[in-house]
Amino acid sequence: MTDAQPSASIRLRDLQLATAHALVAQSLGSEQALREQVPLQYLQNLIDGLCELSLKDPLTGLPNRRHVGAVLEREIDRVARSGEGALLLMLDIDHFKRVNDSHGHLAGDIVLQSVARTLESCVRPMDTVARYGGEEFAIVLPACQFGFGRVVAERMRRAIEATPVRISPSLALNVTVSIGGAFALQWIRSTTNLWIDRADAELYKAKLAGRNRVSIEEQPDSSVSAEEKSLLFGPLYTPSGWGDLPPPVDAPTGSAH
Ligand code: GH3
Ligand code: MG
Ligand code: MG
Repeated sequence: MTDAQPSASIRLRDLQLATAHALVAQSLGSEQALREQVPLQYLQNLIDGLCELSLKDPLTGLPNRRHVGAVLEREIDRVARSGEGALLLMLDIDHFKRVNDSHGHLAGDIVLQSVARTLESCVRPMDTVARYGGEEFAIVLPACQFGFGRVVAERMRRAIEATPVRISPSLALNVTVSIGGAFALQWIRSTTNLWIDRADAELYKAKLAGRNRVSIEEQPDSSVSAEEKSLLFGPLYTPSGWGDLPPPVDAPTGSAH
């Protein structure tokens, strides 16, 4: 327990793990002591604060990987029901290791924070910009039509290219990113991992093609993986066909699938 009597409000920035520990220990020790000394509202705020912290990346303040997982789940659900488009962009800073190696880890951190702010300035309030890990970001854009995918991603790529990052009074670094994008499968309840895999495959293409570029999955329907098809049609479908069984009426035909 800290010296000061807790007030009902909590400033997340000041929240100490030791405070949370002490409060829980106290509550286990004596319910009466808890009631008398710790306002319930304070405990509620503490729990809310810890929940919020667990979904945030401390360096950039962006939602973290755990948070984006929940957002993707929600979008998969919505797109499967409504057929509306939803785009996932995976974005990776180019040659970021060089920044750390040449200018130090702190400079790298400043670059990450700057990229985060630039990305946030490019999206709508309904979109989610998250730090997925290391120097990789995930951006989820609900209600995004297929034709706009490249436009949105290009806008982000250009914005970062056009925003040098000042790491000292005398030095600003040019930063570029590569972006891969994939749309949620319409009318199919896929999984977050398969969706991320498809966006990651596009990111890999953008890197291979020379970096500082965007690669968006061309035809969402034609790139449905065998695993995703089995989610739609059941486990009987294999890439070589339906075996001895007649295919379902709306099953894919031809070699394109
Ligand atoms: P590529 O263009 O292929 O993406 O090359 P890269 O150098 O960006 O990729 P690589 O995976 O080789 O390096 C990523 C670096 O990111 C290595 C790691 O030390 C650094 N990194 C990861 N997290 C942080 C962080 O929080 N802060 C800083 N400063 N560096 C980080
Ligand atoms: Mg990188
Ligand atoms: Mg990376």
